[in-house]
Amino acid sequence: MRVAIGGIHTECSTYSPLLQVAGDFTRTEGQALLDMAGVGQEWHGVEAVPIFHDRSIPGGPVSPEVFAAQCDEFCARLRAALPLDGVLLIMHGAYFVPGIDDPEGDFVRAVREVVGPQAIISSAWDLHGQITETIVRTVDAFAAYRTAPHVDQPQTRARAARMLLEALRGGPRPMVVRRAIPLLVSGEMSSTFVEPCQSLYASLPGYDARPGISDANLMIGYVWADSPRATAAAVVTCTEREAGEAAADEIAAAYWARRDELRPDMYSAPLDTLLDGLSGPTILADSGDNPTAGAVGDRADVLEALLARGWCETSAKRAMIVGIAAPRAVADLRRDGTGLTVGGELGGGGPRVTLRPDSVRFARETAIVTCGGITLVLTEKRRPFHDLADFAALDLDPLAADLLVVKSGYLSPDLRQLSMRQVMALTEGAVSQDLTGLENAHRPRPTWPFKSFDFI
Ligand SMILES: [Zn+2]
Repeated sequence: MRVAIGGIHTECSTYSPLLQVAGDFTRTEGQALLDMAGVGQEWHGVEAVPIFHDRSIPGGPVSPEVFAAQCDEFCARLRAALPLDGVLLIMHGAYFVPGIDDPEGDFVRAVREVVGPQAIISSAWDLHGQITETIVRTVDAFAAYRTAPHVDQPQTRARAARMLLEALRGGPRPMVVRRAIPLLVSGEMSSTFVEPCQSLYASLPGYDARPGISDANLMIGYVWADSPRATAAAVVTCTEREAGEAAADEIAAAYWARRDELRPDMYSAPLDTLLDGLSGPTILADSGDNPTAGAVGDRADVLEALLARGWCETSAKRAMIVGIAAPRAVADLRRDGTGLTVGGELGGGGPRVTLRPDSVRFARETAIVTCGGITLVLTEKRRPFHDLADFAALDLDPLAADLLVVKSGYLSPDLRQLSMRQVMALTEGAVSQDLTGLENAHRPRPTWPFKSFDFI
């Protein structure tokens, strides 16, 4: 038996002006892709054929040419790998491509066309994916993350692989059913580390254990895409349709019933309120410009606010800002380290801030600038600093700061464990947490909690 493995993986804010291009994607192929898919002993007797997996840091819409090229190349390589008994797709589900309603739907249909109706297609997804009827009708099995922040990617891929292998080894052919839930909130409001999603997700294995159910999922969807397919959904892989539909109805009803409890997983307030009320070592998440949710990551709002409060004129308190994407500013500093203008240079908006550094050093595609009590990391590429290894690589100690500013929404497991107060600043940017203030021209109506219709 032969099984192809691969997929496409990103998350696109329609509020970001920055189009994703080919260079934004990292391709995983060959043995590295087999490792990512968890191909091991349980695949005994099955030949795994790696196609490719393209993934980018979340950002703006994907260029139509890039998406078309990914689809065409994937299908060409699949065709060259025929005959295939199955496909394991590793997907995200939140592409946005201008002019295309359902990019992942088109992708899975194209895969189906190549491998034929008999092949089993199983799939692993991010719970922030937008899952359409086209997707669930085209694949045979579906599994999504059950943690946010996501710490169960390998386990999710293993669930998808297990369903695929069981079907290939003579088990009943599974199917996928879906119930849309007209509810869209941010990941921060639906963290599985806190209620209500903690217990909603903890209930999912109980559905798996029911006769006729293979894998139960709650898709939060992606709130920063103003798109007709934007929705939450209960998605259930089953071998008995009635059992699957009953489970999907129950999961959808349970999420809907607890919508009023959905709120950010940490203390949240406007930036000025938080800076005026600082007490003790604090991590401040600059949430509106979080690149891992799709924002540009180039805004200097927090830097401007700290300068206005005099942090550059004294080193009595130490702030560490990691980081601001500013390739031009880094290049300028390499030529002349005496002056610096930063903010919004990739199109993310916000203030332009000028300062005179006390010191500048360069490491790993970054410039590390100090000014009074501020240490500022400028990056040549859009990127997060969510792992302690990111700090260590630049010889920075986050615990040395009184105020650690990261471009993030909910904090990564590494940052959560730091013994610092954790707050989320409701800053502007392409992933603003002010959901009811987002432009809302294309989402299905009604969708809670969006305004501009009578439903709420
Ligand atoms: Zn996600």
